[in-house]
Amino acid sequence: MLRTISTKALLLGLLGAFLLSPFGTAGPAFAQDTVRELTQVAGNVWRFQNNFHYALVVDTSDGVVVVDPISADAARWLEAEIASRFDRPVTHLIYSHSHGDHASGGTVLADTATVIAQENAPDQMDGVAPDIRFSERLNFRSGGHRFELTYLGPGHGTDLLALVVRPENVAFIVDAVSPGRLPYRDFPGADIAGLIEQIERVEGLDFQILAPGHSRLGEKADATAAREYIEWLRGAVAAELKAGKGIDEVVETLDTSAYADLGAYERWRDLNVQGMARWLQESGEVD
Ligand SMILES: [Zn+2]
Repeated sequence: MLRTISTKALLLGLLGAFLLSPFGTAGPAFAQDTVRELTQVAGNVWRFQNNFHYALVVDTSDGVVVVDPISADAARWLEAEIASRFDRPVTHLIYSHSHGDHASGGTVLADTATVIAQENAPDQMDGVAPDIRFSERLNFRSGGHRFELTYLGPGHGTDLLALVVRPENVAFIVDAVSPGRLPYRDFPGADIAGLIEQIERVEGLDFQILAPGHSRLGEKADATAAREYIEWLRGAVAAELKAGKGIDEVVETLDTSAYADLGAYERWRDLNVQGMARWLQESGEVD
């Protein structure tokens, strides 16, 4: 049975009640709901939602393990929630990778915690220096739980790790796989060949539930589906470019209708095609 703790904080626009439009006229007042929830995944494993980002929280009898602070505001909310909900200190803070939208605000949680990151992570992430770095694998135990960290190799970033928590057999996978949804925009900053290998490494892990950094919970089949979509897109876009089409024309004409049911299709389909085409050209796979 799922238990959910939910708050909605009303967040006023950073610039105050009124925003100037790009044309210099005053726009309408805007307010935005911030969605923050701690939701049980399985056993002692929870996921923390902060709008479109998710972190992982594991409440063990020896302390709480958190993966990704997300942001200072998110981490402050989470710290208070952990204190009231579990009444145990955060003993481990793990960084899934160093991208700022997942790795900011760690100072809020780091004071009681051993901080763990992959060895390619920068010296500091928003003021937090990892205590432990590992190259390929790191396992540890806490309060009857086993934590298995695996480096996924370069692709989406160069310091992305996967965490599998046992006995729940939950894998926390950030950015490489987002179940039921297209890949984010135009694959920003990704080496797409590496991204495919990262997903293959995820597929090689032993787990039951895939808890992603974005989108709904899934399973291993979602990782396979994500890889197959990217591989299909790579082949299809490459064939069009090799046939002499320009990127705009490929975006216009490529038949992607088989994937139209996926989340974010309307928003990101064109960007996916564009990003793939650019990567194919920049990586030299297509002239
Ligand atoms: Zn990222």
